[in-house]
Amino acid sequence: MRKAFKYRLYPNRSQAEALDTMLATHRRLYNLALRDRRDTYEGGERSVSYGEQSARFKESRKVLASFAATNFSSAQATLRRLDKAFKAFFRRAKAGECPGYSRFKGEDRFRTVEFPSYGDGCRLKDNHRLYVQHIGHIKVKLHRPVEGTIKTVSLKKACGKWYVIFSCDLGEAPEPVQDGPEVGIDLGLKAFLVTSDGESVRPPRYYRKAQKQLRVAQRSVSRKQKGSNRRRKARQKAVRLHEKTANQRRDFHHKEARKLVDEHRLIAVEALNVKGLARTCLAKSTHDAGWAQFVNILSYKAEEAGTRIIAVDPRNTTQACSSCGAMGEVKKTLSDRMHVCSCGYVADRDVNAAKNILSLGRSDQVRTQRVAASVA
Ligand SMILES: [Zn+2]
Repeated sequence: MRKAFKYRLYPNRSQAEALDTMLATHRRLYNLALRDRRDTYEGGERSVSYGEQSARFKESRKVLASFAATNFSSAQATLRRLDKAFKAFFRRAKAGECPGYSRFKGEDRFRTVEFPSYGDGCRLKDNHRLYVQHIGHIKVKLHRPVEGTIKTVSLKKACGKWYVIFSCDLGEAPEPVQDGPEVGIDLGLKAFLVTSDGESVRPPRYYRKAQKQLRVAQRSVSRKQKGSNRRRKARQKAVRLHEKTANQRRDFHHKEARKLVDEHRLIAVEALNVKGLARTCLAKSTHDAGWAQFVNILSYKAEEAGTRIIAVDPRNTTQACSSCGAMGEVKKTLSDRMHVCSCGYVADRDVNAAKNILSLGRSDQVRTQRVAASVA
């Protein structure tokens, strides 16, 4: 079982500069390798493999000082990242989708450098310093202890601050809990989530307030003249607010996930990335990102606790009746808040959806158990 631990880094001025240089070098490597692949591909030649690019990088280290001053394994991790993006692209193209071609990474789209094997180029020293090859010993604040065995290390820059993320192996996951209630969850816009027991969770007030402030701050940025000092200041303010909102949201996600995991042996949620998912136009990407983070947190908390978590295909979960199974004749619109079925069942629309999600989760569980039994 893997778990990530994230801590703030406090580099001094020269270390911060060196970290920025490291990030820029990795970004350059990524973009160069992407250009290499793209040119070869468009030239109608064969495709370039990760192995070739890795070998070429090794050669270029002899002549390029910035590449020579880069940890080799971490550079390989960056090349592998590109390789993964390419494989995903070809897989999706083959499946008949029209994926976007891998993009060159601008500064705000490339923020992470990975050290794929702990101890190679990056290592924790006496619990308050992180050694990074070519950079030195950076102050780190371990606000909670690292658990398990550190496997990989990532250095990430976000909103001008640096973080270290340890991915740790915590050993075998606990046995699944056998007893306890089960729950289905419908994620929505009006309520953050609604459970099959009829419980509805709204985002806290301060959280909604921060979102409003954020909108105001962003408008304020766009009204100021480009390149002006006032615009720069307004942007700084928006960035800080953005960070604060993101923290509050994560905090809220952690708390809600904790409650659900503590109280249930099985949690069924909708799979967020199902193809053709009929999300309404109201569901902006910000909401999607929020849901994805929540489901992610919920999943790892569940894994740690031995709670089963099952992602189900959410299609028809709003339309179908959770009491008799009939599909509603009239498709519900967003303003239809109630589920009214000809069988006589009446319920809140989201509670009905959550109940459907739970029963799908239950049947999925039965199926996976049968598969496990036939394999065993
Ligand atoms: Zn019905």
